[in-house]
Amino acid sequence: MKITKQREVIYEILRKNRNHPTALEIFDEAKRILPDISLSTVYRTLKDMVVHGDVVEIKLEGESKARYDLNTGEDHAHFKCRACNRIYDVSLMLPLDLVGFKVEKVDVYIYGLCPECSQKEVTA
Ligand SMILES: [Zn+2]
Ligand SMILES: [Zn+2]
Repeated sequence: MKITKQREVIYEILRKNRNHPTALEIFDEAKRILPDISLSTVYRTLKDMVVHGDVVEIKLEGESKARYDLNTGEDHAHFKCRACNRIYDVSLMLPLDLVGFKVEKVDVYIYGLCPECSQKEVTA
């Protein structure tokens, strides 16, 4: 099995699944396309893709497993809803006082309630 095929499959899974899956979830998907793929291969491939900047690793508070997201080239923050546990992409405006700085990596996590859940909390 060539590494390129595995990368291709994992890339495709991440492109279709924008829910920020864990390596295990990616593995479950990948198995359907490449029945011989192993979990360690998925981990290794993901790690490699992170190093190359194709994939972003997301580590959220209170979660032991990292999640993965395609690097869209567009800086976005991740909002985690504590009620439904969904992870939302939210657009991010870099602060103006970063002018003159060369930003190489942006990691922003926001925690709280999504619009749906905060609505429920108000009416409950
Ligand atoms: Zn929610
Ligand atoms: Zn994202």
